[in-house]
Amino acid sequence: MDTVIKRWYDLISIDSVDGHEINAANYVAEVLRGMGIEPHYSYFPDDKERQRPSVWCELDSGKPGKTMLLIGHIDTVEVNLKNWNTNPFKPTEIGDKVYGRGAMDMKGGLADILCTLEYFAHHKDEFSGKLVGCFVSDEEILSKGTYQLVDEDNIHADYAIMAECRYDNVAVGFRGRLSFEVIVHGRAGHTCRYPESGENAIILAGKMAEAIEALPTATHPKLEKGTWCVRYIEGGTTATLTVPDTVLLFLDRYVVPGENEESCLKQLTEAADKLGLKDKVEVRLKPRSSPYMKSFAIPEDHELVLALQDSFTEVTGEKLPCAYDPSVCDSNILAVSLGIPVVTFGPSGGNMHGDNEYGYPYQVRNCLDIYIKTVKKLLG
Ligand SMILES: [Zn+2]
Repeated sequence: MDTVIKRWYDLISIDSVDGHEINAANYVAEVLRGMGIEPHYSYFPDDKERQRPSVWCELDSGKPGKTMLLIGHIDTVEVNLKNWNTNPFKPTEIGDKVYGRGAMDMKGGLADILCTLEYFAHHKDEFSGKLVGCFVSDEEILSKGTYQLVDEDNIHADYAIMAECRYDNVAVGFRGRLSFEVIVHGRAGHTCRYPESGENAIILAGKMAEAIEALPTATHPKLEKGTWCVRYIEGGTTATLTVPDTVLLFLDRYVVPGENEESCLKQLTEAADKLGLKDKVEVRLKPRSSPYMKSFAIPEDHELVLALQDSFTEVTGEKLPCAYDPSVCDSNILAVSLGIPVVTFGPSGGNMHGDNEYGYPYQVRNCLDIYIKTVKKLLG
């Protein structure tokens, strides 16, 4: 078995469901040490038990030049054992597929990063500048691993490849994401006198929900437009014969470049004004423990994009089109918080986040060749 496939299998065999990434982190660190690269651990502050580190490393060619970051996440989503046909923590080959948790998202990408680093550790004459490898935790939840690396200010690069699972195209732009809370205040009263007495917050919130759904969004030539979605409603009252006085609406909002927290809050406030609910509606960004992800897009003719596309064609004989992703991932953080041009491309598969997740060995092998070629083109 070739090394890249073995490392992919090893990683699938390690349960690194969110909350206990430690064994995958230790595996990555040990492999790096084995190739003479010093691993560094990074813990985010609320990981009190120290079970959720990210690992990062640097490989210096010893010659001045640019820096390429290769990054992927070591955590996976949960498994629902009763729906799996195979053991999710035992890579299982069936036909041309390999089944296991993380087989697609994204332990093949991690194996490719490790083997790319190993190749250049043994061929320092084939590049100048530096390679940085990051193996981050918590990507599937709040991306605390990557945000922690940003806070520690250790990661600087001129280019980044996010080895996330997408093989048929390279993502060069992502939408951003925000969440808002809209609190609608009515007035309590006895239901025997309603509607003369009391003002029903549920009815007001219903009007507000409808108005939010109809709000426009900005447009972007490639990312198209944003979304407004009222995701849940909380409130009303279980108090006997009482008109409900408070309701909370929770909103998911995808944004495109040009939209942000302020512009969205302004839209919500104006929607309330239009309904005559100015004094009855409060709007706020839903607080969360890590920042929200902002939208970005890098030019399709950026040298990083072209180098990756050329490498893909050399390896597969096919063209790799650019794509724009409607959601968010850690690429948003690299591009927006760190200002690193990033492409998102790596071995893929099927049933992502679902039962019976699988990946393809040929894609894991090809991506290794593609990453090595891309590094040589840009840092060679
Ligand atoms: Zn992923």
